[in-house]
Amino acid sequence: MHTYARAAVSFVRGRGARLWDTNGIEYLDAIAGVAVTNLGHAHPAVTAAIHEQAGQLLHTSNLFGIPWQERLGGQLCRLAGMERAFFCNSGAEANEAALKLARLHARRLGVAHPQVLVMENSFHGRSLATLAATGNPAAQQGFEPLMPGFARAPYDDIDALRMLAAGTPGIVAVLVEPVQGEGGVRIAAPDYLRALRALCSERGWLFMVDEVQTGMGRTGAWFGFQHAGVAPDVITLAKGLGNGFPIGACLARGEAAGLFSPGHHGSTFGGNPLACRVGCSVVEAMEHERIPQRAAELGARLLHGLRQSLGGLPGVREIRGHGLMAGIEMAFPCAWLVPLALERERLLITVTRGNTIRLLPPLICSEGEIDDIVARLRRLVADAAARAGSPGTAV
Ligand SMILES: *Cc1c(COP(=O)(O)O)cnc(C)c1O
Repeated sequence: MHTYARAAVSFVRGRGARLWDTNGIEYLDAIAGVAVTNLGHAHPAVTAAIHEQAGQLLHTSNLFGIPWQERLGGQLCRLAGMERAFFCNSGAEANEAALKLARLHARRLGVAHPQVLVMENSFHGRSLATLAATGNPAAQQGFEPLMPGFARAPYDDIDALRMLAAGTPGIVAVLVEPVQGEGGVRIAAPDYLRALRALCSERGWLFMVDEVQTGMGRTGAWFGFQHAGVAPDVITLAKGLGNGFPIGACLARGEAAGLFSPGHHGSTFGGNPLACRVGCSVVEAMEHERIPQRAAELGARLLHGLRQSLGGLPGVREIRGHGLMAGIEMAFPCAWLVPLALERERLLITVTRGNTIRLLPPLICSEGEIDDIVARLRRLVADAAARAGSPGTAV
């Protein structure tokens, strides 16, 4: 079905941060399948895990013990400071699990009409519940009536949050992204996440962090919340967890970890031996190659490079970054740069919110590849500004 406006390029092979199309032309990948192939394309450890497990056992169902699932759950809980894991197949499903935990938490509190506090400009997925949680009216349009039970606050605004908290009955949980990726690479201040944690503790709300995009090393730590030194009650993961193999997870600690009992939730495919073995190979490769630290170093290099080479160009409004997530906000709509980048620079980029170039390079890039991304973008953006006319002019 026509759910995506696809580029006129098809890739058939990849290695590290490089891709080759059907004509054998080489490209530099600065989006990693939208924050998914963090270890690059065809990472040998991931390839080996898939090969070996495919020859042993793909699937048995959650009616039986799954050693690889237990192992991955243990690894993720250790890294995130969590206690229990539920496995599913995508980010939206991970958030669905978190939202169901919030409903059970409400029952415990005796709240009949619970609300989850979500943020303006957020993205949590495309299922009916996560679409209602998403702060993007354009994405919601046509799918009304939206699922009730969400209250919305401006992002990264502590005062607005306190006001809302005081005036809104029935709040039982908060769901927040440490960085709004789809929302244009908007970075929450560490103080904001700390204030959210404090508010949740004070009010008995679950503090739920959507780490689907920011998790698995992307921001230069294993998880985005760790920069703020806070401990969430629930986190959700997907994208980078399988390096391209579909897997999602909802992790919880404390009361939230004990809310589900048999019959409450499930997934046929979720947490199967193949998916979890791949997840383990990703975690182990990330630990072995010290990927989160590498992402922090490369991210600093990328941001510095972007500011140096693009900062002064006409039409560039703001350059933001956190780890290996970067956004270049332009003064004009710039979605048309995506095909131009492919064709002219052989570079994969995305544009979010209509005017922000978003970069999510693989976390295994070389320094040279980071510098190359900056050089290709500089040519592109300099040219774009010229085409767009004077800064601020819409194209
Ligand atoms: C991509 C994303 C999702 C949705 O993940 P899917 O796997 O596409 O369902 C949810 N939350 C955030 C923050 C995301 O970036």
